Amino acid sequence: MKQYLRQLPAVHELQKDPRFDSLKTAYNLNGVQLTKFLQREISSLRQRLLAKELAIEEVAPDFARQLFRSVEVQISLWQEDRLARVINGTGTVLHTNLGRSRLSDAAIEHVVRTAANYSNLEYHLMEGKRGSRHDIIEDLLIEATGAEAVMVVNNNAAAVFLILSALAKQREVIVSRGQLVEIGGSFRVSSIMEESGARLVEVGTTNKTHLFDYEQALSEETAMIMKVHTSNFKMIGFTKTVETEELAKLMEKHKDVLFYEDLGSGALYDFKKHGIGDEPLVREVIESGVDLVSFSGDKLLGGPQAGLIAGKKELIDRLKKHQLARVLRIDKMTLAALEETLKSYLAGPEKIAELPTVRDIIRPAADIKIQAQSFISSLQSSSGKYHSELQESTSQIGGGTMPGVEIPTFIAAIAHENLSADQLSIRLRQTKPAIVSRIQDEQVCIDFRTIDCSEMEALLAGFLASE
Ligand SMILES: *Cc1c(COP(=O)(O)O)cnc(C)c1O
Repeated sequence: MKQYLRQLPAVHELQKDPRFDSLKTAYNLNGVQLTKFLQREISSLRQRLLAKELAIEEVAPDFARQLFRSVEVQISLWQEDRLARVINGTGTVLHTNLGRSRLSDAAIEHVVRTAANYSNLEYHLMEGKRGSRHDIIEDLLIEATGAEAVMVVNNNAAAVFLILSALAKQREVIVSRGQLVEIGGSFRVSSIMEESGARLVEVGTTNKTHLFDYEQALSEETAMIMKVHTSNFKMIGFTKTVETEELAKLMEKHKDVLFYEDLGSGALYDFKKHGIGDEPLVREVIESGVDLVSFSGDKLLGGPQAGLIAGKKELIDRLKKHQLARVLRIDKMTLAALEETLKSYLAGPEKIAELPTVRDIIRPAADIKIQAQSFISSLQSSSGKYHSELQESTSQIGGGTMPGVEIPTFIAAIAHENLSADQLSIRLRQTKPAIVSRIQDEQVCIDFRTIDCSEMEALLAGFLASE
C-alpha cells in the first residue's frame, strides 16, 4: 500500500498542471491558498486509502483529474457565506434564530457609509477633541422616548446587567415571583442578578403579586424594585400583577429606592392601534413614573441588536461612567443603523411603516393573501410535483414579544408528490438561499407575512430546485 501511495503525484507536480492555474483564476485564489486545498485533499485521500474506505484502483488511473474535481468542491464550499441569508417562510417576524429584525434601506446605507469611512464616533468636530459615542444619537432617543437621558449598550441583557451592577451591587432588588423569567438563549433574570452582585428578593407567588408584597419587602437594604416583562409567556386565569402606575405611586414614598422596568421589547410604535397586542409605548412607561427602563434594539423597535436604557439623567450619567459601560459598548455600525431607525420613527407614521419589522407586523391579511395566491399559481404552472393550496392561518410576532398574540395571515400549504413534509423541508433548507418553513398537518407551510416581493423569485426557484 505504501508503495501505491508513493505513486500519487506530488504537490509540486500538481502545481504545474494547467488545472491549477485555471482554478486559481476561477476562484480568485493565490497559489498558497490553492496549494493548501490540494494538500488537505491529498492527505484526506491518503487516509481514506489507508483506512481502505477507498481502493487504489478507484483513484489511480485518473488521479489528478479526480483530485482537482474534489478540490473544486471544497473551494466552493469554503467560499460560501457562513453567515448566510435565508428566506423566512415561518411568518414569525422577530425570529431570534433567524436574526430578528431586518433593517430598513436607510439604516443599511448608513451602516455601509460608516463602515467604509472614518467617522466622528468619538470626536468632537467643533472643538477638535475627543468626544463620546454616547452623545451621537442621544438627542434622537430622547425625542423618541420622552426620557431625560438615554444610553445604548450591546443588547438588552447587557443593559440589565449594567443597571444591576452599577446601581444595586451588594444590595437588594425586589422582583415579583411571576416575573422571574427565562428568555431564550439562557437569559435568566435570577442568574443575571447573581452575576451582577445584586441580591434578589422574591415577592408574591407565581400567579399573584400584590402591592403590599412589594411594600412589605422594602427595607434599608433595598436598592431597587425591578419589574420584568414576562416576554415569552403569558399567564392566564387567577393572576394579579402590580401595574407600573401603582408601583410608581408606592415609590413616591420611598425616594431612595429606584424603580426599574425591563421592558424586553419596548415599542416606540403603537401596535395596539392596529389591534395587535397590548404592548405599552416606552414613552407611556416613562411617563407613568419609572426611574429607568431598558429594551432591545432588534425586537419591536426593528433596529440593530442593542440595549437601550432610558430614564433619569442622574442615573444614566452614573451608568455611562461605570467601567462596564466600556465593556458593553456598541460599535459604530450598530450606532449607524440605530440612528437611521430612530429617524424613521421621528419622521412619522409613513416612515415608521417602512421599517421592515413594523411593516411585516401590521401587514393586512388581504395583502398577504394576494401574495400567497400569486405564489401558488406560479408554483402550479412551473411544477407538476407539488400540490399547493391557500389557507387561512395565524402568524406570531416572536422574539419573546407579545406572547399569545396571533395575527391573521394566509399561507401556502404545500405537499410534494412523493416526499414527506419533513423531507421536503430539509431540501428547502439546503437551497441557496435556504428556505425555512413551518410544518403543519404533514404539509410544508409558507407564511407570506415575512416574505418580501423581492424574495418571490428565489422562493419559487428554491421549490423548483427541491423537486
Ligand atoms: C429579550 C429580552 C431580554 C434580552 O434582550 P436582548 O436584547 O436579546 O439581549 C431581556 N429581558 C427581557 C424581558 C426580554 O424580553
